[in-house]
Amino acid sequence: MSSSIDLNSLKNLFSSPKKIVITTHKNPDGDAMGSSLGLYNYLILRGHTVNVITPNSYPQFLHWIPGNEKVTVFNKHTDKAKKLFEEAEIIFSLDYNNLSRIEDAGKEIEKSKAVKIMIDHHIEPASYPDYTFSDTHKSSTSEMVYVFIVLLGDKNLINNTIGECLYTGIVTDTGSFRFPSTQSSTHKIVAELIEAGVNHAVVYNRIFNTYTEDRLRLLGYCLFEKLKFIKEYKAGYIALSKEELKRFNFQAGDTEGFVNYTLSVAGIRLAALFTEQEGIIRISLRSEGDIDVNKMARTHFNGGGHANAAGGRSDDSLEITTKRFEEILPLYKDILTK
Ligand code: 5GP
Ligand code: MN
Repeated sequence: MSSSIDLNSLKNLFSSPKKIVITTHKNPDGDAMGSSLGLYNYLILRGHTVNVITPNSYPQFLHWIPGNEKVTVFNKHTDKAKKLFEEAEIIFSLDYNNLSRIEDAGKEIEKSKAVKIMIDHHIEPASYPDYTFSDTHKSSTSEMVYVFIVLLGDKNLINNTIGECLYTGIVTDTGSFRFPSTQSSTHKIVAELIEAGVNHAVVYNRIFNTYTEDRLRLLGYCLFEKLKFIKEYKAGYIALSKEELKRFNFQAGDTEGFVNYTLSVAGIRLAALFTEQEGIIRISLRSEGDIDVNKMARTHFNGGGHANAAGGRSDDSLEITTKRFEEILPLYKDILTK
């Protein structure tokens, strides 16, 4: 974590009850919701008035997380969300590094006079917050929220409820502890969460074993019929049109994790998933080793993320977007094929 933080002024900030808004990125994932609600459950224990605002809705498999009823979805309940922003004395930015990641809600943060605090693990954090906790080596923002609570001297307040939230973020962002971002500190924190009462098997089942039959069949369809390999460049991708998604009654979050299957084939080092949604193509990129998909997403797909996991978007058709992906591969030939 950043060492330039004035810890005393931070502690002072939370020493009396405050109106606090926690925000997280568009299309919230397990870490976005887990870190936000983990922080929420901690701050209410400290006597603050806390609300969580997401730019848009998030998948059903994250709705069980404690505090879910305190989440306001900006693009559904805009007036309520704007009022919460206006009244806020402190605004947190969790699991995103730039206001562009929260679209229209970003304007409310720009306008606000509240103290702004960022906790995040993405590269190149923006400079708008008053306090920035940014550590790109951390597995997840949830891991950083744990450290944040400890920094404030409140490790003893971390209970089962906070623990379940943070565990959700850590287990999803680390791909169940298998991604290189998983450190010994990650396991140590998880050990503490289990000691605080988290039943990891129960949480795992709530997240990963509550999908619909349609989602499982969509995965089967992707693997059997849609996977395309470009072996010359050690790359592969899956592209899904909106008609295909509709055929399997696609719900937000259904394609979560699909991109990783492509990497499971020996010799494949770069994977992409393209999904046609609401007039745009959503892109997920994953890579192995020193192939920097954050750079690829920033350069070609209007996005960003981490070195081995990034995302972006395209306003072109699905066909043009996948063609563009195939056409950029020769630019990365050396790194892809080494
Ligand atoms: P996913 O492919 O799971 O949606 O995202 C992978 C990673 O890239 C996550 O850390 C996510 O926050 C980040 N990411 C996804 N889409 C975008 C985007 O459009 N812009 C930026 N800057 N990061 C993104
Ligand atoms: Mn994250």
